[in-house]
Amino acid sequence: MSNTQFDISAIKELHDIVQVIKNSGVELKKRGSRYVGNCPFHRDEVPSFVVYENRFYCFGCHERGDVLDFLMKLHGCDFKTALAHLGIDNLQNVPVVTGQEYEKRKIKRELVRKFRQWEVDYSTELGLMIRVGHKALKTLSFDDDLRKWLSDQIPVWEYRLEILATRNDRLKFELWRSVNGSAEV
Ligand SMILES: [Zn+2]
Repeated sequence: MSNTQFDISAIKELHDIVQVIKNSGVELKKRGSRYVGNCPFHRDEVPSFVVYENRFYCFGCHERGDVLDFLMKLHGCDFKTALAHLGIDNLQNVPVVTGQEYEKRKIKRELVRKFRQWEVDYSTELGLMIRVGHKALKTLSFDDDLRKWLSDQIPVWEYRLEILATRNDRLKFELWRSVNGSAEV
């Protein structure tokens, strides 16, 4: 079986990993955007098992993977049987994509993931630069050039942070391109 024939990622997205794991008898509690519970793969005294963004990870035994990995590991079964656990007995019912289309979707998903991570990282970075910048202007003595640069720069950072705080993905994407250059996109 090859990923280039069947859109396995579509299956993973259609089946909520949290629900599948809960249905397997693992108790999960919501902690912010994650779910935690006792790991089913080792004797877990503290909840070490974390589920987030369609994946699981255990901080105790380091088992990790997606919903199909979970089922294969839990039942000690192969890929096809794991699919059967999700109610997929017949791969003919699974969306078929060409290799090229599959690669395109994979690249897009990876890009979106990177973009979302950048949003979080860059917001934190900007917040810090703005705070430090304001404080420096108040408390430090600079030469005029540096003072001017910093005075000009802070509003730019503040504007960027405002963009990142909106839900406007188009503006955010433009910002991403201008900050990171077009090489990545
Ligand atoms: Zn574990």
